[in-house]
Amino acid sequence: MILPRCAACGRIMTLTGYVTSNGELVCQRHTGAQPSVCCGLPADLSLGADRPLCPRCATSAVRTQQDVKRVLPPIAARLRSLSIRTTTPVRVRLVPFGEVQGLLGGHGEVLGVTVSLGSEVVDLMVVRDLPLARFGAVVAHEVMHAYLAQQGFGMLPPEVAEGLCELLAHAWLKDQPGAPAQWERRRISENPDPVYGGGFRAARAAAIRVGGVRRMLEHVRRCGEFP
Ligand SMILES: [Zn+2]
Ligand SMILES: [Zn+2]
Repeated sequence: MILPRCAACGRIMTLTGYVTSNGELVCQRHTGAQPSVCCGLPADLSLGADRPLCPRCATSAVRTQQDVKRVLPPIAARLRSLSIRTTTPVRVRLVPFGEVQGLLGGHGEVLGVTVSLGSEVVDLMVVRDLPLARFGAVVAHEVMHAYLAQQGFGMLPPEVAEGLCELLAHAWLKDQPGAPAQWERRRISENPDPVYGGGFRAARAAAIRVGGVRRMLEHVRRCGEFP
């Protein structure tokens, strides 16, 4: 018989404890601990992050512009290989979590914002202290907003725009190793929000229907809606 171990401290599970939303077991020793905002494991508040993170999330967290310089190039390269090329190199500006909340109405916490004027992308902000898998997914999402603006897709219905952005985030996560990337993919595909989750599922279904993302994007550009 194999006794399960606590995902937080590695010790043998106690008879009582709890299960995080990612399905990880946490032992009773952490009862009452504040959960990490990204994975639900007990947070270590001494890490000095903007928001509570567990040591595992903190290890890969993108905390400074120096970190961005290190982790962004492979993310941008992968997005280009998925044929999403922005006309200017992507610049990511890290911002404190509190700075971007309330900028967009009504879809939970805001982790990234792209500001464009017509076809010009003037700013791409990502909340600092996100673990790498979440950071990459947010970057991919925002890069798609930048791409749609630069390529002249015009004003799209929210579920079309956000659905396309979530589709790129999901595609980027597909070849990232490790459980956090898998959790991020599930968070996207099972998101109950009608605009983000519903948009993603509609985009994915439309791409399958017309035989690929390229053709689906061509249709959206022409008609402003999913085929
Ligand atoms: Zn434990
Ligand atoms: Zn964590």
